[in-house]
Amino acid sequence: MKPFLLLFSILVIASASVAQIDRAKVHFADTTEAKKAIIDDLAQPFFSIMMPLEMIAKTADTFLTNDLDQMRQACRQRYQNNVQNFTSEEKDAILWYLDELSAQLNEEYPKLAALDWNFIKLNDQIEGGLPHTRGKYIILSNGVIQFFINSIEKAQKYPNTKNLVMIQVAGLLVHEQLHVFQRYHPGIFDSIYINEFNFFKLKNKPLHPWIASHNVFNPDAPNIDWVKRVIKENDTSYIWPMVAIKDSVEIPKMPDDFMMIGLSLRPDKDSFVVITDSSGLPVYDYLLKIDGYYDGIPLIDRSLLAQEVVFAQEYSTAYHPEEALASLLTTIFGFEHLPLNLMFEDNRRKFQNEADSYKMIFQKFLK
Ligand SMILES: [Zn+2]
Repeated sequence: MKPFLLLFSILVIASASVAQIDRAKVHFADTTEAKKAIIDDLAQPFFSIMMPLEMIAKTADTFLTNDLDQMRQACRQRYQNNVQNFTSEEKDAILWYLDELSAQLNEEYPKLAALDWNFIKLNDQIEGGLPHTRGKYIILSNGVIQFFINSIEKAQKYPNTKNLVMIQVAGLLVHEQLHVFQRYHPGIFDSIYINEFNFFKLKNKPLHPWIASHNVFNPDAPNIDWVKRVIKENDTSYIWPMVAIKDSVEIPKMPDDFMMIGLSLRPDKDSFVVITDSSGLPVYDYLLKIDGYYDGIPLIDRSLLAQEVVFAQEYSTAYHPEEALASLLTTIFGFEHLPLNLMFEDNRRKFQNEADSYKMIFQKFLK
């Protein structure tokens, strides 16, 4: 049965005609534009709130000054110095994926499809070379774009790998574009975070010096006021997720020296405070180790993930509700491209039911 299924999926791909994306909707910033855009943090504070360890990690270099303002200024310059022009080969590669995506996006998520695609190219040295978004732009590093190009070559040489390529690369683009959409429509998905994922919003963010020096700002999930209510039997705990720099690392590297943690909070009057240990440091643990943290965050089933490597990458990116939502869309999207022979039948059925129900939720906002 399996060889037949594989053949079937290849035939489906080969016969599907690709609708082309409206080229007017895709824009590649040149270095002049990118230098301006990359330091523009009027709409969303970025450099103005960065702290020393974070700046070292995000630019892969130390600073000669200890003055915070000067450091931030040097940091802006490093970002500017590292923007690049796209080559025509790189533009073609990105357009290839957008063409592949456009029919499905137009049909299933037209509001997302209506959004223009804007890209900036940034050297690998900045932000650990990881894809992210700033303002209306999706920021891609040399390494990521090279991966895009290599993946197209692979898909063309071995057509049966095309589905996986679409999951990895096209899924990544959908994920990032949803972050742009989130930014354009603040609050639009709050009901999902609250009612489905079981988060609530802090009225006042608890302060602590450790947080100030260790918290890393993720431009894709800028609202760090979401807290997860974890209910176990009669016990409720309040877990505040964040990306932080590992303790006692003097020259941190991104992403190796970052950790996704949950800080424990406790209610205090009409707000929350950070629970601290005997030496006054916040009590935290890796999110993966906190029992119940991922409850309610969809399609992130540990037992399934152990078997389905393809989805494993979604796990770590689902640490925060805004990231979890973008990952969910990627997961549904990827699932629909997943070759039948690559998934255990029971898992597929289970995913299908979940995917269908979450797709309906997405379509409420994006159709
Ligand atoms: Zn993301």
